[in-house]
Amino acid sequence: MIVAVDGPTASGKGTIAKALAAHYGLPHLDTGLLYRAVGRQVVLNGGDPENPADAEAGTGFPDDLLADPVLRSEASGQLASVVSVHPGVRARLLERQRAFANRPGGAVLDGRDIGTVIAPDAEVKLFVTADIAVRALRRFLEMRDRGEDVTLELIEADLRIRDERDRNRASSPLVAAEDAALLDTSELDAAESVAEAIRLVEEKRRRA
Ligand code: C5P
Repeated sequence: MIVAVDGPTASGKGTIAKALAAHYGLPHLDTGLLYRAVGRQVVLNGGDPENPADAEAGTGFPDDLLADPVLRSEASGQLASVVSVHPGVRARLLERQRAFANRPGGAVLDGRDIGTVIAPDAEVKLFVTADIAVRALRRFLEMRDRGEDVTLELIEADLRIRDERDRNRASSPLVAAEDAALLDTSELDAAESVAEAIRLVEEKRRRA
């Protein structure tokens, strides 16, 4: 079974995807991390993330970069959203993501275009959303716990910029697949969100 989990930043999609993978015994790929690594590699190369050739060169990042905690910062998220606009970057990351999705036995992938581009035939597609204020607060608390010096206002402004860029780019914009089940986590905590996601997966499997 392939499970595609898409949605904006801090919607809860990462937590849900990880929990679904554990519940169903499937491997999990956080595809946002790949774009974060590209952005980071561009900086390490001294390149310009807005420049398509520099951004594409960033896709040659070494695998151990994926474990660097710096990728979890909000700055890395912004950089990722700048490099992910370039079709060449998306094309270079496509095969790696498809190969993961098509592993024997299946997989859970989370990102922005899993249900629409990477795995359009996925058996289960979830599109996870939440109010911007809720998402900003979640991200703020997460950053603060990690010791980052951020304010709620700054985080919310940052999420708005990223949402706007992700939704309006020409190449694989953030949009729910037509056959995706919508899951709004605004009023749910992590455990409730996961329980609802499992319920939606089971419902979908019953109907298949
Ligand atoms: O999910 P995460 O916040 O780690 O993603 C960082 C950025 O990477 C997103 O804002 C988006 O621009 C980009 N991304 C993407 N397609 C994906 C996953 C992430 O464009 N499948």
